[in-house]
Amino acid sequence: MEGYPKTMLEFERQFSTEEACQEYLYQMRWPQGFVCPCCGHRKFWSSKIDRYRCSHCEYRASIKAGTIFQDSRIPLRVWFQAIWQVVSQKHGISALGLQRVLGLNRYETTWNILHRLRTAMVRPGRDRLIGPVQVDEIYIGGSHPGKRGRGATDKTLVLVAVEDRDGYPGRIRLHKVKDASGDSLIPAIKESVESAAEVRTDGWQGYNRLSRSGYSRTIIRETAEVGKNLLPLANRVTSLLKRWLLGTHQGKPSPSHLDYYLDEFVFRFNRRTSRSRGLLFYRLVEQAVNTAPVKDQDIRGGRD
Ligand SMILES: [Zn+2]
Repeated sequence: MEGYPKTMLEFERQFSTEEACQEYLYQMRWPQGFVCPCCGHRKFWSSKIDRYRCSHCEYRASIKAGTIFQDSRIPLRVWFQAIWQVVSQKHGISALGLQRVLGLNRYETTWNILHRLRTAMVRPGRDRLIGPVQVDEIYIGGSHPGKRGRGATDKTLVLVAVEDRDGYPGRIRLHKVKDASGDSLIPAIKESVESAAEVRTDGWQGYNRLSRSGYSRTIIRETAEVGKNLLPLANRVTSLLKRWLLGTHQGKPSPSHLDYYLDEFVFRFNRRTSRSRGLLFYRLVEQAVNTAPVKDQDIRGGRD
């Protein structure tokens, strides 16, 4: 692997042509050289029409097939520029902002790119958090402060899980949950936190079944009001998340799109200490290659 660009200038130099972008994907996909997806043969013929045609079974392999770039008519150059924009700006970029930067005519195109990239941000088979982990729930969205607790209908409840590294936040997971019952919270925790880990919570009864699920639960705050009185690390993550939603995305993503924003925030947060933005670029392209294609109709909730 020839590595990743470290600056805007390097990025532009490295990915100035469609061929250069294809070559980069080729390296990610077949780091040990071409492997036919159909028969495993390692040699291919190349022509203008079929770049990778298996010399054994004649299968027409495509560098984009099976990745989020499959069926996309957008040139890879534009995809790469979008990825660079998304990772190189500290707080990310809105669909409208990206449309302006890339000079795309249609807002829908930009929107589709961004949502596919967000899908790629959730690393397939990613690791779960390691204990001790602080877990709490927060409310996102909603137009008025209104009632708290289970009566808050226009708000979305989100489970926040943060690795507690001697009082400093490690990696995080965010998980939309239907309500604050044990039936909603415990499965979300199982998906986010390694089994048998120590989970630190408040006194909320929704967490009572944690120990039965194999976790060791420590109550570090007795109060148990849902969505309030956050544990310190969960509190810190929550305020950053809210500020980010407000700053980059004008504060009110519709509940059906919230998953995507949460995924992007987690991607950014967990890589906040990354040495360079270029490494984030590398990671996101890598994950895009390893993420199954998304169909338009599968993008939850349709357009913004
Ligand atoms: Zn073959």
